[in-house]
Amino acid sequence: MKRTRNFNAGPAALPLEVLQRAQNEWLNIEDSGMSVMELSHRSAEFEKIHNRAIQSLKELMDIPENYEVLLLQGGASLQFSMIPMNLLPEGKRADYILTGSWSEKALKEAKKVGETAVVASSKDDKYTFIPKVEDIKLNEDAAYLHITSNNTIYGTQWKDFPQTGRVPLVADMSSDILSKKIDVSKFGIIYAGAQKNLGPSGITVVIIRKDLITDNDSIPSMLNYSIHAKNNSLYNTPPTLAIYLLSLVLEWAKEQGGVGKIAENNEEKAKVIYDAIDGSDGFYKGHAQPDSRSLMNITFTLPSEEAESQFLKEVKQAGFVGLNGHRSIGGCRASIYNAVPLSHCQELADFMKKFQEAFKA
Ligand code: PLP
Repeated sequence: MKRTRNFNAGPAALPLEVLQRAQNEWLNIEDSGMSVMELSHRSAEFEKIHNRAIQSLKELMDIPENYEVLLLQGGASLQFSMIPMNLLPEGKRADYILTGSWSEKALKEAKKVGETAVVASSKDDKYTFIPKVEDIKLNEDAAYLHITSNNTIYGTQWKDFPQTGRVPLVADMSSDILSKKIDVSKFGIIYAGAQKNLGPSGITVVIIRKDLITDNDSIPSMLNYSIHAKNNSLYNTPPTLAIYLLSLVLEWAKEQGGVGKIAENNEEKAKVIYDAIDGSDGFYKGHAQPDSRSLMNITFTLPSEEAESQFLKEVKQAGFVGLNGHRSIGGCRASIYNAVPLSHCQELADFMKKFQEAFKA
């Protein structure tokens, strides 16, 4: 069977075991004689799958009782608008920390809804680092503080999170949810498009502290957290196939030994590639400052445009997919989400070493 070594940033590789299980169950899900896409979303069979996905995420992330887990549509990008629409009243300001293009986009949408402020940014340094938590000062009237926990394009990641006291901390975890243990109780909202560590595109997970869900009839129903929470995320027809695959990815994550074990694997995987960069005598240059390096997206450049395009051409020929940097910044990027096995990272590191030797010769 042909399977590529997939380093795509998103949609990302899914675990092979998940795809195989879906294939086995494809025509007869939950013994219904139907595929999951043919089940009514109001049927007992589908509800079981839907609730199992939510329950598994609660178990894996140790989500406290006072949080609601919502499965929504519209991607993480729709959350850029829903968050201020639901959490930013007149007379208050929303604080944002800029660590890359996705935080800029989140801020851009919030500005359309209400007052905002940027309380820290690494933009002037080409987003090579994460601001120090001790330097962050929130505004007195902050309705929430928004951060992007992992910057998919620049390859930086928060290691410690800002202490926000009574101000809810809102985190876009699209590209590192479920990659390491986090204390959910420190956050007001965690949201993530599923298509990196959770499953296929089409679902956005929103983990929201219950007291932040308030009734507000002026918000359109589909953009209203309260409506989705009251309807167990089944207000309208959900993406049933995507939710089913989410449930399988979460079961797979439990079988791997849970988030603690996944985090250990991710550390090991990232080290293999960062070691190849650091041991290259400057041939490969990491974009991120070492203490801000992402364990999910490893961004690097080569000494010249010629070397880079040669590298990208040859790495593809060698059977590695998705090594191009994001179109907005170029360079190279290896996305090593949970489903990417250690062996693929070792093979990439070996390729990098061999390419360097051949290029210099
Ligand atoms: N936030 C981050 C950190 C991302 O990496 C992405 C997509 O790559 C998005 C938001 C946008 O997600 P979506 O395409 O689900 O709207």
